[in-house]
Amino acid sequence: MKGGKLIVFSAPSGSGKTTIVRHLLEQKELNLEFSISATSRDPRGDEKEGVDYYFMGLAQFKKHMKNDDFLEWEEVYRDNFYGTLRTEVERIWAMGKNVIFDIDVVGGLRIKRKFPEETLAVFVRPPSVEELKIRLKKRKTESEEKINMRIAKASVEMATAPRFDFIIENDDLSIALKEAEDLVATHISKDIPTKIQEEE
Ligand code: 5GP
Repeated sequence: MKGGKLIVFSAPSGSGKTTIVRHLLEQKELNLEFSISATSRDPRGDEKEGVDYYFMGLAQFKKHMKNDDFLEWEEVYRDNFYGTLRTEVERIWAMGKNVIFDIDVVGGLRIKRKFPEETLAVFVRPPSVEELKIRLKKRKTESEEKINMRIAKASVEMATAPRFDFIIENDDLSIALKEAEDLVATHISKDIPTKIQEEE
């Protein structure tokens, strides 16, 4: 596989990374296309098939796992699988665009390991786990139990921040957006060696 650049945004759920990724997608000069993940979970709110995710049942997801169709996959929450299909990155690179990912910390670091030169891996850090809880409650898209599950995972995820290329502190959104724009612009303007790393 070879092509453009890869931009990974990872963070605990509720840290604002999706807002940052959406903002970056609006900056046409960055030439970014969103990597639509596959997931075994059901659609939430007004999420659409083939826009937010490729929604599929667990059986189909496991079939893709068995066929080695994923660049990376994770059981992010119990019984909720998420993964990046190889065909998704190929689709975007074939368009001549750079790929932007909104994925969990483990998946993000895996992409970085597979494509170290091409990938910019950014961790979005929320002000605190307490603030995260407030944001998730405000979002009103998950049950109390699901919110608690996401909060429990957040502390573990926060500990992986130093392994990313950059950390963006998201306590002031407008500053975080500007910082993200600058980081991505610098990364996509970089020349990288033509040698493509072997996949794991
Ligand atoms: P949500 O259910 O809120 O849409 O996503 C839950 C978590 O799964 C988020 O942290 C999101 O970034 C992550 N996620 C989404 N797609 C992928 C993917 O393809 N791979 C991995 N590893 N995580 C993903």
